[in-house]
Amino acid sequence: MLKGKRAIVTGSTSGIGLGIARRLAKEGCNILLNGFGDAKEIEKLRADLAKEFSIKVGYSGADLSKPADVRGMIATGDKELGGIDILVNNAGIQFTSNIEDFPDEKWDQIIAINLSAVFHGMKAVLPQMKKRGWGRIINIASAHGVVASKQKSAYVAAKHGILGLTKVGGLECAGMGVTVNAICPGWVLTPLVQKQIEDKAKAAGISVKQAEIDLLSEKQPSRQFATPEQLGGLAAFLSSDDAAQITGATYLMDGGWTAQ
Ligand code: NAD
Repeated sequence: MLKGKRAIVTGSTSGIGLGIARRLAKEGCNILLNGFGDAKEIEKLRADLAKEFSIKVGYSGADLSKPADVRGMIATGDKELGGIDILVNNAGIQFTSNIEDFPDEKWDQIIAINLSAVFHGMKAVLPQMKKRGWGRIINIASAHGVVASKQKSAYVAAKHGILGLTKVGGLECAGMGVTVNAICPGWVLTPLVQKQIEDKAKAAGISVKQAEIDLLSEKQPSRQFATPEQLGGLAAFLSSDDAAQITGATYLMDGGWTAQ
């Protein structure tokens, strides 16, 4: 379906980004990976993905908190893949604290990575997509793009911001063959959430398993995690020609979280 398309997935060395990169690879896309981690492990991941799906796979170690790095990543994608048809803005971090205790530098860092990097990526890649008359931007927001939770001020602000930015992108590209959409996952068991579960277990003096059950019960009516593979499936659908008239939209995959 997407054979030969060229995709960048940010934050694809782990979790949801890796699930999306794998699925796009399976559909025949060439991929530029991005994210942090052990250099040897990333190189193995890159080589394995290329071999398993017989595609081209590159890597950019861009630090997305820096606008120049975001632009550099797009340039690397251009150079290594010969252009970019799909940009999945997925990289994100979390920090929890009440507003009055929230460190200024954490606020700045979360806004930079979770929101501003999405703007800089879109700005750098949209000219070529509009020129070609085909493009897909998929922004990974969160259930926290629609509703809030305590102690997540920067994260919730950034994710709400992504939905606004997605709508503007959808309007600006309407009718040009370029769509801009957002995906809002509920809980997905990745390293980002594993840390929150472990912190919760420690704070409440309960087992990690119990903390996992509590975390799901509190927000996600299905009491089941969404998976990186399922999110990969949704990203592949939004990249397909069947989704050509879906733009400026928000897709929830949250086990009923925001239906309450
Ligand atoms: P994760 O921690 O498993 O992966 C995050 C990825 O982003 C990693 O590859 C990491 O190296 C990369 N990254 C972090 N900072 C970076 C930077 N400055 N520059 C470049 N790369 C950077 O997290 P995840 O759970 O897979 O989250 C992926 C996205 O999904 C995030 O935007 C997150 O907010 C969102 N999300 C996650 C959940 C969940 O339950 N896990 C729910 C809703 C939304």
